[in-house]
Amino acid sequence: MTRPIQATIHLDAIRSNLLRARQFAPDAKVWAVIKANAYGHGIERVFEALRGADGLALLDLEEAQRVRNLGWRGPILLLEGVFEQRELELCSRLDLWHVVHCSEQIDMLAAHKTHVPQRVFLKMNSGMNRLGFRPEQYRTAWMRLNALPQVEEISLMTHFSDADSTRSIEHQVKAFISATQDLPGERSLSNSAAILRHTSPRPEALTSLPLPSDWVRAGIMMYGSSPDFPEHSPSDWGLLPTLSLSTRLIGTQSLLPGDTVGYGSSFTAHKPMRIGIAACGYADGYLRASNAAPVLVDGVRTHTVGRISMDLLALDLSDLPNAGVGSEVTLWGRSSRGDCLPIDEVAQAGNSISYELMCGLAARVPVRVD
Ligand SMILES: *Cc1c(COP(=O)(O)O)cnc(C)c1O
Repeated sequence: MTRPIQATIHLDAIRSNLLRARQFAPDAKVWAVIKANAYGHGIERVFEALRGADGLALLDLEEAQRVRNLGWRGPILLLEGVFEQRELELCSRLDLWHVVHCSEQIDMLAAHKTHVPQRVFLKMNSGMNRLGFRPEQYRTAWMRLNALPQVEEISLMTHFSDADSTRSIEHQVKAFISATQDLPGERSLSNSAAILRHTSPRPEALTSLPLPSDWVRAGIMMYGSSPDFPEHSPSDWGLLPTLSLSTRLIGTQSLLPGDTVGYGSSFTAHKPMRIGIAACGYADGYLRASNAAPVLVDGVRTHTVGRISMDLLALDLSDLPNAGVGSEVTLWGRSSRGDCLPIDEVAQAGNSISYELMCGLAARVPVRVD
């Protein structure tokens, strides 16, 4: 028997979540964000489900090349722009749009020899203080770009630091709007959290700021996770899980009061109880920091006990008298019977977020696409 761990990607769920982004931002074009190898899913594996997007947004030339190789002819956006000047050559060759977030990137463009003018997204640092020009520097940067023969069209963008929380994004929106007021060009502001919480014309929108949105950037919502969990679960937003991780029990133990479980003996049984040992550990991408993380056994909810080891984890079987070696264990996503365990809950029990779990799925885990 091969080791029973298995990841499954649900293409229909990706299609449905992408549609959800459209419903929330009906007037915008949608960038499907597929950086980090499509949030760990694998660009090649999910590509078929991305055809409904208006463009693909990603991080580097290697990913862009892969997407062109798959036959994608639509827009591609490099979210951090180029890292060195010679990459501009490939931007022309592969027809890539790219972010310009610093004056060094404008210098590279100015020094670039080309007959094909480029399409750029000029990024404003409206308050997150990672990448971009501050509002008071933005216009000067735009004028410099606009004067370059190497540049064909300039779009305007910014990124929110707090769209996923109850903190206001208003100061960022206002900074963006006032600094771009009379500049032409398409606008791109919203990530998943802003699409769901702030862009919707529907009553469930939590705020209704005037958010200019020619393009929205859908990342985590496309992968079926809620950007503002636990305030909202994926099902609250109508999102479906796109990645399931399952395995089986490969052993059981009957514990007596006082017995402990695993490295460090961090769990002690206070009554006679049965535990199951599942073939999954932190070397598969499960979070070692997990504490009493939720798990489904044969579709029934239980939780981990003791420390997560490299290849194994232990589960409480107190309420599962019929579970034994071979029982199906759903670490997150959908069980074979259709029960659902949101990845957001599992990430929370490991003091993390769904993004990290998805991106951290280990290469040794076999992946099936359905
Ligand atoms: C990753 C990224 C996104 C997508 O963010 P989600 O929270 O996953 O929707 C959007 N915009 C930029 C600039 C990004 O880097």
